[in-house]
Amino acid sequence: MATYDEEKDMAHIVVLGAGIGGLPAAYELRAALDTSHQITVVNANDFFQFVPSNPWLAVGWRTRETITLPLEPSLRRRGIEFVAGWVEKIDATGNKLLIQGGKEISYDYLVVATGPRLAFDEVPGSGPGGHTQSVCTVEHAEHAYGDFRSLVASPGPVIVGAVQFASCFGPAYEYASILDTALRREKIRDRVPMTFVTSEPYIGHLGLGGVGDSQGLLEHEFRNRHIKWINNAKVTKVEAGKMFVDQLNAKGETEKQHELPFKHAMMLPGFKGVEPVAAVEGLCNPRGFVIVDEHQRSPKYRNIYSAGVCIAIPPVETTPVPTGAPKTGYMIESMVTAIVRNIKAELTGYVPTAKATWNAFCLADLGDTGAAFIALPQIPPRNVTWFKKGKWVHWAKIAFEKYFLRKMRTGVSEPIFEKWVLKLMGVARLKS
Ligand SMILES: Cc1cc2nc3c(=O)[nH]c(=O)nc-3n(C[C@H](O)[C@H](O)[C@H](O)COP(=O)(O)OP(=O)(O)OC[C@H]3O[C@@H](n4cnc5c(N)ncnc54)[C@H](O)[C@@H]3O)c2cc1C
Repeated sequence: MATYDEEKDMAHIVVLGAGIGGLPAAYELRAALDTSHQITVVNANDFFQFVPSNPWLAVGWRTRETITLPLEPSLRRRGIEFVAGWVEKIDATGNKLLIQGGKEISYDYLVVATGPRLAFDEVPGSGPGGHTQSVCTVEHAEHAYGDFRSLVASPGPVIVGAVQFASCFGPAYEYASILDTALRREKIRDRVPMTFVTSEPYIGHLGLGGVGDSQGLLEHEFRNRHIKWINNAKVTKVEAGKMFVDQLNAKGETEKQHELPFKHAMMLPGFKGVEPVAAVEGLCNPRGFVIVDEHQRSPKYRNIYSAGVCIAIPPVETTPVPTGAPKTGYMIESMVTAIVRNIKAELTGYVPTAKATWNAFCLADLGDTGAAFIALPQIPPRNVTWFKKGKWVHWAKIAFEKYFLRKMRTGVSEPIFEKWVLKLMGVARLKS
């Protein structure tokens, strides 16, 4: 790899994707590197969206304006270039990106933070183009809100959950509980039977093999809310108003087949890597997730780093219906911090040594209460495993939303108080 131009003493670092991973990466790089190095962010949209707030948008508790912000002004203020456009091709040997419309951008270092491709195509009839809703993007959540209004006007059965190969289960639990709360406020919950359909082997598995007593606490929560559940569920197809589900046993054999009617359904899809990333020879695993070493760097292309949902992490354990390991926000930020340290090391003549902790720390809103968990490390057995429920989490999540959006508007990635609060809880971004 010939990347760093020592004569000009200047490198061009391109961050591909401006989501929960990419945008903090750009800010942290800018703060860490000498101004002689150029940083450019490329993102499909010209705005940032705070994805964790989408379940609120889907029941009308938020609007698009309150959970998005334009990227260009915030980035430019920090001296970061911004290009809005879909990257069609990564030329990883020529160190170039080809953007839809013909524009080319060369890079010395590339940080891939492209998030997931939402694989609705794996379950016929699912997704906003089919018969189920999604809260994965702001557009999907707006679409889901339209369907929620129809449900309020004409109540009927609801299904919420996550299909096979899903790796992000938290938002399904959040949406089920938020929807239950919203329907109670509308005084129509008594006319809406709710079923949670999940590929997890048990309620509260979360793709993590459970965290503390997440199973007991979340089953209790669902019982209290009169939400029934079907686990080990493989959704085979969805038709208008009907979902077809095979329920497997521990051996992976079909134990029962369900045909579930619904008026409103929100199912999280399986995740894959986005096409232009998946298409780079030798960069990804078969599902299109970027393979990284312990320093977040591609073993094949040494000037490509990657963070966020787009990286390859093996499942925590094998489950009868395939599930993946979640990549939560703080874990993603820890990957970002490691990348910034490692690129800085390379630019100053050192070898990369920083390793992200990949600790799972998450606040899940349940509408009128919430659940928080910490799993350190992500794969059991763990040094710290902690799962607590309470109204304080609901308020903490709202505060976190405001705080994160402000952080992205102002361009400060890890203000001092966040560093200290998390330190007190034993959560650190880098392995010491
Ligand atoms: C509904 C939902 C709620 C969640 N809630 C939480 C939560 O409460 N707490 C938590 O810790 N985690 C949560 N997560 C998990 C995780 O934090 C989010 O998925 C997070 O958005 C992932 O960040 P990311 O940067 O990897 O991807 P994203 O935020 O999806 O960002 C990827 C960006 O890359 C861009 N992009 C992709 N491909 C291209 C291309 N070819 N060209 C140009 N741009 C491209 C996309 O447009 C996007 O802007 C949630 C996930 C979902 C889906």
